[in-house]
Amino acid sequence: MGRTMVVSWGLGAMGGGIARLLASRDSAVVVGAIDSDPAKIGRSLGEVIGEPSAYPGVIVSGDPVSVLEGEGRDAQVVVVATGSFLRDVSGQILLAVRHGKNVISIAEEMAYPMAADPDIARRIDELAKEHGVSVLGTGINPGFILDTLIITLTSVCAEVTRVRAARINDLSPFGPTVMRTQGVATTEDEFWQGIASGAIVGHIGFPESMHMIADALGWKLDEIRETREPIISRTERVTKYARVLPGMVAGCRHIARAFSGGREVITLEHPQAVLPSAEGVETGDFIWIEGVPGVNLAMKPEIPGGTGTIAISANMIPRVMAAPPGLLTMRDLPTPSAHLSPGGGLRC
Ligand code: NAD
Repeated sequence: MGRTMVVSWGLGAMGGGIARLLASRDSAVVVGAIDSDPAKIGRSLGEVIGEPSAYPGVIVSGDPVSVLEGEGRDAQVVVVATGSFLRDVSGQILLAVRHGKNVISIAEEMAYPMAADPDIARRIDELAKEHGVSVLGTGINPGFILDTLIITLTSVCAEVTRVRAARINDLSPFGPTVMRTQGVATTEDEFWQGIASGAIVGHIGFPESMHMIADALGWKLDEIRETREPIISRTERVTKYARVLPGMVAGCRHIARAFSGGREVITLEHPQAVLPSAEGVETGDFIWIEGVPGVNLAMKPEIPGGTGTIAISANMIPRVMAAPPGLLTMRDLPTPSAHLSPGGGLRC
């Protein structure tokens, strides 16, 4: 089988990382690159992703149509890593689909788009079927830890009465978009103003994960309640994307509770901050399934969000290529895995 040709749409921390990972594999190659950032447009893709010798001749463009109809004409897959919300990414996804491309998106709302907007989900599904391509939302979370992994673990349960899980993680690898939406490096006042205005949202993806779990288990959710509060830093925390002084906000403690028939059936906690280890906070992924048998899973430290998102996006390329046309979620596809070539390398 030839190399899968890919267009990378969005070349930030995640999209750039996916392009970098693909550059080191022989099963896929990026042939077109799109970004709206004037600082990236017109430069070589290799330079933008910090691998100057990668992808010779591929120049970052700010014009999606010219890429999809030009250098990306023969691409089979478009990887969309531009934003979080359907209102921002659905136009990009529909454009790629109209050009006959399979799509992998890491937008949080794309992990289970029927949760945020069933009409958009239906439109994507119909258009994808019309063009004979598949569209998948994935990522570390939503997309894996607080949904796909939980759903997979319930496969050994004869009964499930309640699901609880916590992902305590380090936000440091994520780019400026995530820093902004988590309120990192704001004052406490700015944090609450950001929550009120919707500029700070904490984790994006609880309804997606919860509906994915509930639909898998056959539960009907009546209500989802979410709470968000600032994680105030006592120390200075400096990362590639943020500088948090003592007394400023290092992240957001976000908790979601889903109810069915008046009973809390799913509780997901996601306190996220840059460098939580600066104050001795141990990171990890924890899942408790109440049922028969009960299942407890604890992974310390957490699966790294940046590398995990980059890897799962690349690893899903062959799954998406082999899938039937339409809108897909992680629970529709065969068990996900890394793709190890006989030599042991990761095939994407
Ligand atoms: P980032 O801010 O580092 O990069 C975003 C890139 O997309 C930038 O280069 C920006 O210029 C570009 N961009 C934005 N809007 C664009 C548009 N309309 N057209 C073309 N380019 C555009 O962010 P990131 O850390 O790479 O994350 C990207 C998105 O993925 C974020 O919204 C983030 O929340 C989401 N994400 C999801 C998961 C998950 O687990 N599902 C994990 C990580 C990130």
